[in-house]
Amino acid sequence: MQKIKYILFSILFFITFQVVNAQRFPEPEFETDYTVPETQTVSPRALAWEYMDVVVLFAALSIMSWFVLKKRSRKGIFWTSIFSIAYFGAFREGCVCSVGSIQNITLSLFQADYVIPLTVIAFFVLPLLFTLLFGRTFCAGVCFMGALQDLVHIKPVTVPTWISKPLSALPYIYLVLALLLAATGADFIVCRYDPFIGFFRMNATFGMFIFGAIILILGIFVGRPYCRFLCPYGVLLSWMSRLSIWHTTVTPSACIQCKLCETSCPVDAIDKPTIVKPESADKGRKRLITLLILLPVFVFVGGFMSSLMYKQLSAIHPTVSLAEEIKWEIDNHKKTGSEESKAFHTSGIPAEQLFADAASIQSQFYVGTWIAGTLLGLFFGISLLQHAVVQRRTDYEPNKSNCVSCGKCYKYCPVDKDGKSSLIQL
Ligand code: SF4
Ligand code: SF4
Repeated sequence: MQKIKYILFSILFFITFQVVNAQRFPEPEFETDYTVPETQTVSPRALAWEYMDVVVLFAALSIMSWFVLKKRSRKGIFWTSIFSIAYFGAFREGCVCSVGSIQNITLSLFQADYVIPLTVIAFFVLPLLFTLLFGRTFCAGVCFMGALQDLVHIKPVTVPTWISKPLSALPYIYLVLALLLAATGADFIVCRYDPFIGFFRMNATFGMFIFGAIILILGIFVGRPYCRFLCPYGVLLSWMSRLSIWHTTVTPSACIQCKLCETSCPVDAIDKPTIVKPESADKGRKRLITLLILLPVFVFVGGFMSSLMYKQLSAIHPTVSLAEEIKWEIDNHKKTGSEESKAFHTSGIPAEQLFADAASIQSQFYVGTWIAGTLLGLFFGISLLQHAVVQRRTDYEPNKSNCVSCGKCYKYCPVDKDGKSSLIQL
């Protein structure tokens, strides 16, 4: 009943904001067959509002960290999440968003004429800083995407490890691809394929609407599918979280090994105590040395394999795809009649210049795919090394990298902060 009340409240809040926004910015009605292009950013707002967004983000992160670490209040986490959905999702229409900001930061590093607003830098840096201090309290619910998925997760099922493990590599692939396409100025794919923004802006394409709906329906059963198996910013947050100074715990006191929390985590982020098999130190050392020797091989193979795809990937860049189109027209003595082709022919730019620009972009992609593949090979090698190193654990603990600080495990622990257990002793 409580869950239904919360969901109804959120839907009401969401609709209210949409109605308000729709009245403030009515869609223009064109009488021609021109279709309004799909945009990846909302209209610019007054600078004061942008600073306001940063203040709200800072306040939300502070309050959320306080609820997670100090108060251990699931209710507090929940209501902060509702606020984030309402403010960053419905009211701000998902822009600026920390997840997408990776691309703005990357483009600004590679293109001197791309000016990045301070607010975008703040949205990129603040969640990472808070994570370094307190763990992924941003993911707990300040991120409206995580909050939304948390809200719909009402019929939890456990994803078998043989499915979840391979899928957990996807965010790394998505991250390097997003960095490559942003650095070359080809596209901002994290924004283009954001499953939720279209709902908030009421302008999702049919395909994206279906994608968003699939993620949400899947999220009813699987805890946070986008966060776990796609989010590229989550990769950076998980690295920061590993190094976090403070981090939430399942129990407020000492673990009594009752196992009640074992399956309580919606993202399978509770590590069990380890049973360390007696294994000779020699064997362990040999495995580690083998993997260390193989690391450069993974790096090289990753770089080489990725570089094979540079031509296909470069075709995503509008200049390269236009050059291919114009080349086809020249070779076939025909016109494709597309808007891009018409615009190019009226621009008066010589085809040779277009081909030279496209060739230069393709060579950037060649270098970029090598770097991207190298990074993927490195991530793969490091993850194997991590599995090779046996970690001794005596208690049930959140995995600092994967735990999204949602607080859902708190209520499963029968121990209070004074170390008293509510379990009946027989
Ligand atoms: S993993 Fe990504 S989408 Fe999920 S809450 Fe964290 S930042 Fe947001
Ligand atoms: S706080 Fe608990 S339930 Fe939530 S992600 Fe972390 S370990 Fe899992």
